[in-house]
Amino acid sequence: MLRGDVKRLNTEYDVIIVGLGPAGVTSLYELSRLGFKVLGVESSKILANKPCGEAVPKQLFSTVKINPDEVNSYPVRNVVIDLEGKKKLLQFKSVVGYIIDKRLLLELIVKNAIDEGATTLLGVSVENVEADGRVKLATGDVIRGQVVICSDGVLGPCFRHFKHYTFIGAYQCKAQCRICEDETLYLYFRRDLTGYMWLFPKSNNMCNVGVGGLKIKPKHYMEHLLKTLTSKFNLRILRCDGGAIPALGPIGNVVNGRLIAIGDRAGTAMSFTGEGIRPAIISSIYASKKVREFLDGVSNSLNYLKEFMKEWGWRIDNSSKMLRMFLKTPGFLRKIVIERLNEKLALKVLFGETLGLTLKYG
Ligand SMILES: Cc1cc2nc3c(=O)[nH]c(=O)nc-3n(C[C@H](O)[C@H](O)[C@H](O)COP(=O)(O)OP(=O)(O)OC[C@H]3O[C@@H](n4cnc5c(N)ncnc54)[C@H](O)[C@@H]3O)c2cc1C
Repeated sequence: MLRGDVKRLNTEYDVIIVGLGPAGVTSLYELSRLGFKVLGVESSKILANKPCGEAVPKQLFSTVKINPDEVNSYPVRNVVIDLEGKKKLLQFKSVVGYIIDKRLLLELIVKNAIDEGATTLLGVSVENVEADGRVKLATGDVIRGQVVICSDGVLGPCFRHFKHYTFIGAYQCKAQCRICEDETLYLYFRRDLTGYMWLFPKSNNMCNVGVGGLKIKPKHYMEHLLKTLTSKFNLRILRCDGGAIPALGPIGNVVNGRLIAIGDRAGTAMSFTGEGIRPAIISSIYASKKVREFLDGVSNSLNYLKEFMKEWGWRIDNSSKMLRMFLKTPGFLRKIVIERLNEKLALKVLFGETLGLTLKYG
């Protein structure tokens, strides 16, 4: 792993990956294990520096072939929905998901990629990318990839090459939570239902507290909420950061010349729930397959979107439809929907399954 050591870099790669979030690290691993010369560049000196609630459905682990224990996962069996004081408890028969240590997950995937021959450059920003595969680093160095994977999230430098999209503002804190209920997610909806707050318990009395919504100013709302929550859960806030989650589904065109967009850059997050880690990873697996075919000369197209949407990504479309519908529904009806939510329906919402289609990835 090179930490800012640009001098040891080569100038030509089969694949350059811009941004090492869940999407980027997955491509780093998938393509290096196929024997390609792959470089991953990440602006942050440490992985998973971006704010995140770290909640994932249990199905993620069969996709990444990692055991939940390896990433300090804390199980989720129950969900409490609080509609400004009116509470509802959903109790699932078994573990439905986990609150993970996202940094451990990304570090593990990067370690596996490095074992397969990948190179990573941490703590160096990509300043610019060109559609012909040139990547300019903030150090002034220019390197070139046969393919450049844009996994730079919502706000990274590949922005100008792809369609822009609406995003949901979000604010996330890490806190000590002395009286969080065991294995229970807590979701708090405000009265007008334009945004919601989450409290995700982790091991060692830690938790992730966050807030997001399309029509709210999350920081402002969070500050207001924290006053209530701090006394309710005896929270001790350690660190807070703002972020953004893509809303309303994937961009139509994920390829521009030799550039290919995946994860948040391609808008793959589930709009209704804000779940983005697993969709980013799965989009990366589909994209890596296409990159392989392109570099092996089997295909002249890098466009993975059709297969991805047909086999898995339709959930993202469903999730966007749910969000659009929910926003259009009058307030009193939204309340009824939330009040009527049961375990079965909650899982359908989580998996974007309203149309009754089947799961491919577990
Ligand atoms: C507040 C908040 C809470 C969330 N909670 C959850 C949750 O509980 N569960 C869930 O599944 N999803 C959650 N998400 C969504 C999830 O975090 C994202 O969908 C997911 O991380 C997307 O992965 P990605 O790899 O596409 O992008 P990112 O994780 O954004 O990774 C992009 C990477 O690119 C790097 N980068 C950016 N610019 C440059 C540059 N110029 N040069 C080099 N590198 C650069 C960034 O540092 C970053 O590491 C949340 C998002 C937010 C904002």
